[in-house]
Amino acid sequence: MTASAPALTLVAGDITEQPVDAVVNAANSSLLGGGGVDGAIHRRGGPDILAECRALRASHYGKGLPTGQAVATTAGRLPARWVIHTVGPVWAKSEDRSDLLASCYRESLRVADELGARTVAFPAISAGIYRWPLDDAARIAVGTVRAAKTSVAEVRFVLFDERAYQAFAAQVG
Ligand code: ADP
Repeated sequence: MTASAPALTLVAGDITEQPVDAVVNAANSSLLGGGGVDGAIHRRGGPDILAECRALRASHYGKGLPTGQAVATTAGRLPARWVIHTVGPVWAKSEDRSDLLASCYRESLRVADELGARTVAFPAISAGIYRWPLDDAARIAVGTVRAAKTSVAEVRFVLFDERAYQAFAAQVG
């Protein structure tokens, strides 16, 4: 299959409800759950996802998943088949961590390609508890996905509130 940039779509709503092949989790490095998207995925997806995350911690990621990397589990009771967990950088005024945020999108798409996923839903990684300014988070997200070479046919950005939706809409144009 030829790798090219995927089609982009924007959806206002909850990422746990998306009938896509893979949903991306804005996880934290522990992989053991948290708030925001992470909490919603584990609540709606049920305990199997957490069990797989614990197994990952016990095997490959003893020290946790590094920021900017991604790893997949199955998706439990979610409509999706897989959850791709990635760890966004915490926003810092004193340091430019944009490359790490871009890496979350690139690495998640690389894992999606390995899985054979054709449709992937992303939240606005780092734009919640990790405090990344929304407009900049949207710019990095859209720019990185547009530049990606992947077999994923559709990337769906799922925005939880109107402000996030508008920030992404401004970038998609
Ligand atoms: P991070 O820790 O990477 O900042 P968060 O989960 O706190 O991740 O927030 C990332 C973005 O996802 C925020 O814009 C937040 O409003 C949004 N969000 C929270 N819950 C959901 C959900 N269920 N579906 C989609 N987006 C969500």
